[in-house]
Amino acid sequence: MALDADLRKRIVQAVTDGFDDQVAFTQELVRMPSLRGHEHPVQDLLHRMLQSRGYAMDRFAMDREAIAAHPGGSKISDAHSNAPIVVGIHRPRNETGRSLILQSHLDVVPEGLHDMWSDPPFSGKIDGDWMYGRGAGDMKAGAAANIYALDALRRIGLQPAATVYIQSVVEEESTGNGALQTFLQGYTADAVFIPEPEEEMLVRANVGVLWFQVQLRGVPVHVREMGEGANAIDAATRVADELRKLEAEWNADKGNHRHFEDLDHPINLNIGKIEGGDWASSVPSWCNIDCRVSIYPGRSADDAAREITDRIAAFAASDGFLANNPPKVVFNGFYAEGYVLEEGSDAEAVLGRAHEAAIGAPLKSFMTGSYLDTRVYALYNQIPALCYGPKSRNIHGIDESVSLSSVQKITQTMALFIAEWCGTEPVDD
Ligand code: ZN
Repeated sequence: MALDADLRKRIVQAVTDGFDDQVAFTQELVRMPSLRGHEHPVQDLLHRMLQSRGYAMDRFAMDREAIAAHPGGSKISDAHSNAPIVVGIHRPRNETGRSLILQSHLDVVPEGLHDMWSDPPFSGKIDGDWMYGRGAGDMKAGAAANIYALDALRRIGLQPAATVYIQSVVEEESTGNGALQTFLQGYTADAVFIPEPEEEMLVRANVGVLWFQVQLRGVPVHVREMGEGANAIDAATRVADELRKLEAEWNADKGNHRHFEDLDHPINLNIGKIEGGDWASSVPSWCNIDCRVSIYPGRSADDAAREITDRIAAFAASDGFLANNPPKVVFNGFYAEGYVLEEGSDAEAVLGRAHEAAIGAPLKSFMTGSYLDTRVYALYNQIPALCYGPKSRNIHGIDESVSLSSVQKITQTMALFIAEWCGTEPVDD
C-alpha cells in the first residue's frame, strides 16, 4: 500500500537528519584501500557497524568447490579474494511485509597512477557536492546508504515489518562470486536492492561479462638475429586485432537483442592489461594479454567462451608464426551471464513511487554495459533485482567521485522503498 503523505515527509526528513553521519561513515569506508584480496578490514568495519545496531550477524567464506560447480560461478584464479562475506539480519516482531535483501560490494578496482589524481586516491576528500576517492561511487556510498536508509526509519520509531538482509560482499569487480556465495549459502528474499552508481536510474538490462587471458609464447633471440626469432608482443597485437573483429561482429548483431538495439556500441571488449618480454634488446619470448568482453543477456558464458577460444585458434592456424606456437586462452575471472529486469513487477512500481517522492520526477530505466551482482539474484534467486543508485563521476578512472546531494536523495528513495515494500512496525525496545 502506498505510503501516506505525512509518513513520506517524516521518512525523507529522517534521512536528512542522519546525513552528516552517513557522509562521515562513507568517508571512513573510502579511506580504506579495499583492493582485491585486501577487503578484510573493511568487511570487519561493516560487521561492527551492523552488529552495533543490533542486527543478527552472519559471516562466511566463499566455498570454492560449490562456486566452481555452479553454472553462475566465475573462474577462481590465484588472485581471488578470501575475504569473508558479511550479512546483518533484521527480523521483525511480526512478519507481515515482503522481505528484502540490501546488497553492496566493498572491493574496489586498482587506483591507477597516483600522480594522475588531484588528491591521493583514498583521500575521501569532499569538495563542494563531491566526495572523491577510489570506490566513493562504486560503491561505498551505496554500502553506507543501505545502513542509513534503515537508520532513518529507526529515527522515527519504525522498523521494517519483514526480514531484511544487509549483505556486504567482495569479488564484485572480478568474478561476482561473493554475491553467488550468498545464494549458495541459502539467502533469498522477495526482492533485492543494490545501490550501485546508476545516475538515479533503474537498470533495465545488463550484459554478462567474461575475463580471459591470452598467453603467447615466442622464440627468443638476440635482436641482431631478429628475423629468426618470433616476437610474442607482436603476435599479441595480431591476436588483439582479431578480437576487435569479433567485437565488431557481436555489435553488428545488436538488432537481435531487445534493449540493446538503439545503443551505439553495446558490446565492449577491453584489452585491460598487457605483460610481456624481459629486455629491450631481446626478442620477447612471452606476452600475456588480459581481456574483458561483454555478452548479451540470454547467452551463456560457456557458449561465448567457446566462440572466443575457437576464433583465436582459427586465427592462429592462419598465422605463419602462431600456427606453430598456438596461444593458450585461459578464463580467469568473470564468467557471468547478463539479465533483463522484466517490466511490470510490483517491486519496480514501489521503487517508482519512492523515487518520485524523493527526486520529484518519474523513474527512468536504462541498459548498462557493465557487470552487476544483480545478475545472481535475477538469474538464480529469480527475484525482482533492482539496481539503482547515486550520480558519480569517473568510476574505475582518475578522480572518481560521488555526488553527495544525489546520495542523500537516493537514500531517501531507499528508505521510502523499504517502508512500502516491507511495511513498518514500531521499533523494538
Ligand atoms: Zn560496483
